[in-house]
Amino acid sequence: MTVFEMIIARKIPSHIVYEDDLIIAFLDISQATKGHTLVVPKKPYENIFDIPEDLLKHLIGVVKKLSPAIKNAFNATGINIVNNNGKDAGQTVFHYHFHIVPRYENDNFNIIFSNNANTLNEEEYKKRATLIKAALL
Ligand code: 5GP
Repeated sequence: MTVFEMIIARKIPSHIVYEDDLIIAFLDISQATKGHTLVVPKKPYENIFDIPEDLLKHLIGVVKKLSPAIKNAFNATGINIVNNNGKDAGQTVFHYHFHIVPRYENDNFNIIFSNNANTLNEEEYKKRATLIKAALL
């Protein structure tokens, strides 16, 4: 049982900000920035690869509802929506979830993709795009 299942079952405490039949949202115990919130389906799917599409649509709807509320509650100037899938992607709790991370000027939270860090020749872009399109078939 993951820590999120224990929170959902009220076996450990948390600060819940939203709940419906399928979803729960609560403050991340480690506040990356002020208001950092986790949005979690109650059923314990592990990752993007196994969560059903209908549930994912409902989940992102809740993220859409919570994002402006969290932004306004703390006068944030931006929001990052983060979802880690797999250990190498930074996932530490293997129960699917979105992070809503409100952002503030000079908040020192670092999630910026470095532009121009890894540019390729045209052929290599084509190869990579072809591999992805082939995998979709
Ligand atoms: P991940 O690294 O899997 O994307 O995110 C897991 C998140 O769960 C982390 O940001 C971590 O701080 C949070 N977390 C871990 N244990 C607890 C807990 O007991 N309570 C709450 N509220 N958050 C937790």
